[in-house]
Amino acid sequence: MKFKYTDYHVHTNWSSDISEDGPNFNDYIKIAEAEEINICFLEHYELYKIERDKKDPFYDGRIDDYLEEFDELKGNYKFILSGLELEYYRDREIELLEFLDDYEKEIDFIGGTLHEWIYHYPITSRAKLLELLEKVQMKKVIDDYFEISRMMIESRIFKNICHIDTIFRYINENDIIPLDDCDVSEDRVLDLGRLCIKNKIRIEYNLSGVKFPINRSFPSKDIAEQLKSERAKFFVGSDSHQIEYFKETVPKVKEAYKFLGLDI
Ligand SMILES: [Zn+2]
Ligand SMILES: [Zn+2]
Repeated sequence: MKFKYTDYHVHTNWSSDISEDGPNFNDYIKIAEAEEINICFLEHYELYKIERDKKDPFYDGRIDDYLEEFDELKGNYKFILSGLELEYYRDREIELLEFLDDYEKEIDFIGGTLHEWIYHYPITSRAKLLELLEKVQMKKVIDDYFEISRMMIESRIFKNICHIDTIFRYINENDIIPLDDCDVSEDRVLDLGRLCIKNKIRIEYNLSGVKFPINRSFPSKDIAEQLKSERAKFFVGSDSHQIEYFKETVPKVKEAYKFLGLDI
């Protein structure tokens, strides 16, 4: 890679939660080059949605178009990586492994992720989470998140895991306040992190929390520090969905590398 630091988590209009006229490869490339940072395009790749939603950018095998478009740029720019934020489904592990068999060699970086285990109710959408909480008790939603995350890690399908405590994006004291019977302790996050260490999986230090009332990284700085002392391996991601946010977060990505001792 050309530069010292890498932002492993930026989304373009190849991601389903970004509109077609949203940021594209070149929009990021221009800024990354000026700010001297490598970037990895970590687009959402959700088997369930790709099969059903014609509007999903990867519908109907379009992943090959994505890789083709990327390859055309790769020759000119030595600071870009292709990647996917690949959704985990506990009942589709075989298909995920088959997918990786087919594509792992062609894609620079793949991060496992958990946003949605009851279809159509991603916990990373505030509106959808509120709808989910009308049907399922908050305690169960939180417990299920940690249980399925544990399954994702122990499956060892992924070498990298994104934002291990993203369940707290909206459920926290500054936003949707956890009910009394909910276990929202950081120890649970620490346990997931330790499980990553045990399974030799890299953990994302995701900086996107500044966009939400929680206003902290995922995991928190304290947890990252503890995991670092236990020899966890990290990668850093801004989780950019917009160019302005990407640009203003570059210095924070570089600081995170220093904090995590990754800048040697
Ligand atoms: Zn995500
Ligand atoms: Zn993301």
